Amino acid sequence: MKRVHNFNAGPCVLPKEAINAAIEHLKNFKDTGMSVIEVSHRSKEWDAIMNETEAIWKELLNIPEGYKVLFLGGGASMQFAMVPFNFLEKKAAYLETGVWAKKAIKEAKGFGEVITVASSAEKTFNYIPKGYTIPTDVDYFHITTNNTIYGTEIHEDINSLVPLIADMSSDIMSRPVDVSKYTMIYGGAQKNVGPAGVTFVIIKEDALGKVSRFIPTMLNYKTHIEESSMFNTPPVFSILVMNETLKWVKKLGGLKVMQKMNKEKAELLYNEIDRNSMFVGTAEKNSRSYMNVCFVMAEGYKDKEEAFMAFAKEKGMVGIKGHRSVGGFRASIYNACPRESVEALVACMQEFEKKNK
Ligand SMILES: *Cc1c(COP(=O)(O)O)cnc(C)c1O
Repeated sequence: MKRVHNFNAGPCVLPKEAINAAIEHLKNFKDTGMSVIEVSHRSKEWDAIMNETEAIWKELLNIPEGYKVLFLGGGASMQFAMVPFNFLEKKAAYLETGVWAKKAIKEAKGFGEVITVASSAEKTFNYIPKGYTIPTDVDYFHITTNNTIYGTEIHEDINSLVPLIADMSSDIMSRPVDVSKYTMIYGGAQKNVGPAGVTFVIIKEDALGKVSRFIPTMLNYKTHIEESSMFNTPPVFSILVMNETLKWVKKLGGLKVMQKMNKEKAELLYNEIDRNSMFVGTAEKNSRSYMNVCFVMAEGYKDKEEAFMAFAKEKGMVGIKGHRSVGGFRASIYNACPRESVEALVACMQEFEKKNK
């Protein structure tokens, strides 16, 4: 297999170790004589995987008592509706930091009043708003911790007097999180913890049951808590790869180690963007994401965008095209993106500068 430097935004690079382990389970799952996609999800072998996966989540994130970790279908996008369905009785507050936040707001509006406490829309979401006030009369406050498209990130757990709910699709497991500050954390697995097809939900059990509406069985978190994510057939293969991905995180030393590695990788790339006169970063410096690094050609070099894209492609870089709403380039450098890939991209930018300036 030809090796490439994979900077895809999601689905994206996963640890080779996790993929290889998954291949073995695909062939023969725990000596059952069956593939993991052939065994019953009610078998004891599968049950062990479910329990182990929840245990690794709890261990890595140091999740306190009273929380449950769920593995559901539907993607983070399904959570945009499930959150207000289960939590919004009258009013909710949202922080508008990008397209994903906007999509979450749109769904919530179908269930009650929505207050947008702050927005960075006027500057194409290139910063994280600060100095806003969270209303105290709302059912919850919703944030998106990493804005995958714009490359901005909330690096610290914020304090909220009302229940805090976070979409952490693209930075979960990239740093330690004080889960006790959140009522719920959710996301699609396909950015940092596994393949597409499974959605994680970390939920405080006693926060539920406060809305008066009827909630369909499958959309009710209580159903999935009571049945330990096995009310219906769970996405077994996606969960298995997630399990192996998190074992890899654990083996490397856990989230403090991840955070250090991620910060170092991001700094390497941001330093080059700031040094190299042909490129410029799009996110404000104090809002820069460690997961998605967005940049464009600098003034005077705008006509070189396609040339750089072709040059980088030739050097084995994959997935660096920026989202169409921002343009330019985006390098997604999640946990499993090796430092060598970031170094290769930096070298590529340096070489391009030498050749074209
Ligand atoms: C990718 C992404 C989503 C959408 O996830 P799906 O699982 O595809 O629904 C939502 N929020 C954020 C922050 C994302 O990066």
